[in-house]
Amino acid sequence: MAVANTGHGEHDELADPPAMRAWWAVLDAPTDLEAGRPDAPEDVVMLRTLRAVIRGLALRNNGIDVRVDAAGLDRLTLRPDLRGSPSLLADGPDGLVRDVCAATVTALLRATARPCWPRLKACRGTDCRWVFVDSSRNTSRRWCDMAACGNRAKSASFRARRSASEPAD
Ligand SMILES: [Zn+2]
Repeated sequence: MAVANTGHGEHDELADPPAMRAWWAVLDAPTDLEAGRPDAPEDVVMLRTLRAVIRGLALRNNGIDVRVDAAGLDRLTLRPDLRGSPSLLADGPDGLVRDVCAATVTALLRATARPCWPRLKACRGTDCRWVFVDSSRNTSRRWCDMAACGNRAKSASFRARRSASEPAD
């Protein structure tokens, strides 16, 4: 969820390795930022692909059938770690971004296995796509925030209907 909702405003936390590290440091995640080799820019691209995949899956949960393109993740090799709580670790060269990718895939697999997975949705707002948990009784929530995105979409479709019914001059 933390990865899915990056890059929501003007600033993309996953723009490049330094931006990604700054974001990760703020999260207070238990990783040694100094460990391993410097992050490769292509690893951050991989993390952005993962973000797009999660948003795509969450959008499907919201009734919008989008193509989920995970081809950019071919370079991510993972191996199981079954010593404690089963999880996946990044294989190959050390790197914070690869570790974050592995942790994100682990979290995604756990989330999809839970009965509440259909409640993880991406907002239908075309310029929004905020990922949220739909806690409504009948899983019918479509917008991250009805006051913002919901009303914006409503007035857009109202304007479209009105201009379609107006005679052209
Ligand atoms: Zn929204």
